[in-house]
Amino acid sequence: MALDISFIKKIPKVLLHEHLDGGIRTKTIVEIAKKNKITLPSFDPTHLSKWFIDQSNQKDLYKCLDAFAVSCSVMQDQESISRIAFEFIEDMYLDGVIYAEARYCPFLHTNKGLSMDEVMSAVLAGLNQGKLQYNVDFGVLVCGIRNLGPEINFELTKLAHRYIDKGVVGYDFAGADLDFPLSDNIDTINYLNNHKIPFTVHTGEAAPCDYILEAINLGAARLSHCAKIFDQAKTTPSIIDQSLELIKQNNIHIEINISSNIATGVSDIKHHPFISLFNNGINVALNTDDRLMFGNTLSSEYGYVANLYNLSYSDIKQMNINAAKSAFANNKVKKNITSKIMEFIV
Ligand SMILES: [Zn+2]
Repeated sequence: MALDISFIKKIPKVLLHEHLDGGIRTKTIVEIAKKNKITLPSFDPTHLSKWFIDQSNQKDLYKCLDAFAVSCSVMQDQESISRIAFEFIEDMYLDGVIYAEARYCPFLHTNKGLSMDEVMSAVLAGLNQGKLQYNVDFGVLVCGIRNLGPEINFELTKLAHRYIDKGVVGYDFAGADLDFPLSDNIDTINYLNNHKIPFTVHTGEAAPCDYILEAINLGAARLSHCAKIFDQAKTTPSIIDQSLELIKQNNIHIEINISSNIATGVSDIKHHPFISLFNNGINVALNTDDRLMFGNTLSSEYGYVANLYNLSYSDIKQMNINAAKSAFANNKVKKNITSKIMEFIV
């Protein structure tokens, strides 16, 4: 029986993978752009929404990444950044999300003179205001972007370290995984490991399983995407078995983003590894990645996937417990959100 979307909305949920600059309301983009005289592909929120979705649905990861130039153009002053962060929490509340990790790259918001610390303060102010109003907890992940190069990514790591326990809970490597190997950022990785800052890695998005194994071996606590975990380009089949074994042994959480993977063409519904990983007892949960780009919510994502693979309420509950236990938040927060999911009465 298909699960009703209004029921899925009520289930307490945890979202670990959403980009702050990929989840803005189009109405907000239009208002900020008009106020700050910023050019947009359209000033009609409905048309603009379609533009973002079309741009990201061309089976081309780079075209999707290009859309971020537009979303980031309205995140260059503190007032707008705080507003977007506040609305992020409001959206989570409206979708039944009880804990969310918002990830973003502060460097991308310094085009008009803000320092990265000013960007971070604005983000935390908006998220904290939302938390106070809606009782939705959050953690921030600072994104290093592979394409930006190792020096900037290292600066971003030091920034993340300064804000640990002040809202930041970890680090993420985003960007084009196939063309910019993780190993280029070895100083950043050593810094993260030495300071015990947990990190996740966008990997197996466009790149095959070899890159996933590399991320595991370099100390990733979680893995983002892994759409190509059953693909390998240059090594022996044992790489896949080895990766799966390590993922199981270390209970590494995989942040699944099915709608995103299909839209950008890195996978398709026939070959996506999600159901195989889930049926094998791997620690997975669903995510939105970029609500603005893919037109989804966490509830719609669970509804879509539940319908596709005939999943039950207990499957959805299990995945949200997986996400709660794999959050980068402290143990108190993790225990609290896990209890809320467990205690939910159908
Ligand atoms: Zn992502």
